[in-house]
Amino acid sequence: MASPPDSPRRFPASWPAAEETSRTKPAELLRPQRLLRDVASAAQRRDAPAGLGLDSDAVRLRMIERLRRSGVALEPVVLEAMSRVPRHLFVDSALAIQAYEDTSLPIGHGQTISKPTVVARMISLLLQRPSASAERPMLPLRHVLEIGTGCGYQAAVLCLLARRVTSIERIRPLHERAREQLRALSLDQARLLFGDGRLGHAPSAPYDAIIAAAGGGDIPPLWLDQLALGGRLVAPMHSEHHGGQVLVVVDRDEAGWHRSMHDGVHFVPLESGTL
Ligand code: SAH
Repeated sequence: MASPPDSPRRFPASWPAAEETSRTKPAELLRPQRLLRDVASAAQRRDAPAGLGLDSDAVRLRMIERLRRSGVALEPVVLEAMSRVPRHLFVDSALAIQAYEDTSLPIGHGQTISKPTVVARMISLLLQRPSASAERPMLPLRHVLEIGTGCGYQAAVLCLLARRVTSIERIRPLHERAREQLRALSLDQARLLFGDGRLGHAPSAPYDAIIAAAGGGDIPPLWLDQLALGGRLVAPMHSEHHGGQVLVVVDRDEAGWHRSMHDGVHFVPLESGTL
């Protein structure tokens, strides 16, 4: 596992930190608790036919425990969110039995759902941005842009950590299936868009976090434009130097964009156009 981001620097946050802290507790911050309850109970209702037996919770918690002990720098709040999201509902029922192993799985159309360690690591990197509030906010992210919705699993995890999630998918049947799945789990603060995610989504920019689930040769310039001051982008990218794909982190502050290279990864390619 590569080293954590360069020594943290203090940048002025581009939004008032107080707004997000649990100290202030405005009414809408009570929402995540309701959400967590809803996800858990919606999942329970759907557990039985998924073929995992009655207790997918226990299997999921064992996966979380393995992630916690993996030695990878993961944020506890991310593991907490992942412990609430029924990953087995996002894959074909024939694969549900493997849903809590640390492995990527096919989701059709030549695409895959990312490994749990990679999902946990990428979202943890987003939360470790230099401008992150030290106040342990209940919803640490404000507005996340995800490129590559796939089956919607990572978007579901992000919904428990962000006020808003905008996610773009270029394969229509995947986009539609993810939309149904998130609706079934009452995760309606996710806005799923069908289109070419290389363009980002300017109308709702800027984003304090951008996360890509597909990798190319370089970071599309529009993503950099749409990243907020104090925001962080995490994306897989090919690196000649490392001879493969690595996670690239880009932090934006008033002086510009700062890149660092992290873990070696293996993602599907970032393609152009829609299908
Ligand atoms: N986060 C997803 C991972 C999906 S795999 C999950 O939890 O399941 C990556 C996805 O990126 C694929 O579904 C692929 O179709 C999509 N993708 C690739 N290039 C894209 C592009 N230019 N715009 C939007 N989505 C893209």
